[in-house]
Amino acid sequence: MDLHPGDGLLAVDVQNDFLPGGALGVPRGDEVVSVLNRYVAAFRARGLPIFASRDWHPAKHCSFREEGGVWPVHCVAGTKGAEFHTDFHLAPSAIVISKATDPKEDAYSAFEGTALDEHLRKTGVRCLFIGGLATDYCVLNTVRDAIKRGYAVWLLMDGIRAVNLKPDDGRKAEEEMVRLGAVPIRLENLAA
Ligand SMILES: [Zn+2]
Repeated sequence: MDLHPGDGLLAVDVQNDFLPGGALGVPRGDEVVSVLNRYVAAFRARGLPIFASRDWHPAKHCSFREEGGVWPVHCVAGTKGAEFHTDFHLAPSAIVISKATDPKEDAYSAFEGTALDEHLRKTGVRCLFIGGLATDYCVLNTVRDAIKRGYAVWLLMDGIRAVNLKPDDGRKAEEEMVRLGAVPIRLENLAA
């Protein structure tokens, strides 16, 4: 397949805290970095829009255990853990979408409480290519919302990794996304 005007790339939460060694490290999450770099390069070469979401929490966020949530402290805005991985080469033109910035609300989906939808409409994106971390949380919820809002979704199978709190979570999430209509693709499916 080739990329066309109307296609857009969304890299979900490629942040230090979600990579191995981070506060909430996704097993083998680092493997998505070089793959997503190649997707970024492909979109960039064709002048197509690129988006990157990031978890961007206040210091006391409701998702943190200390505040009654389920996760360790992670991705506090402005900290090293919240930065994109240094080897992740985002295009300078990429639009960064910060989510879950409200202390009282968590957001797994990059659409939730953000201007992503407006940005996509403004840049004429109809088909969204989605990869990143983690398959069973933020990728899953972002894909659900994208489909609900009428976008065609391509799921970057080689650019996602799961938390797998239960061993099958990632596989089940992939199945759900495909059932909803997301089309699974890999780098080799993109025309050079
Ligand atoms: Zn979070």
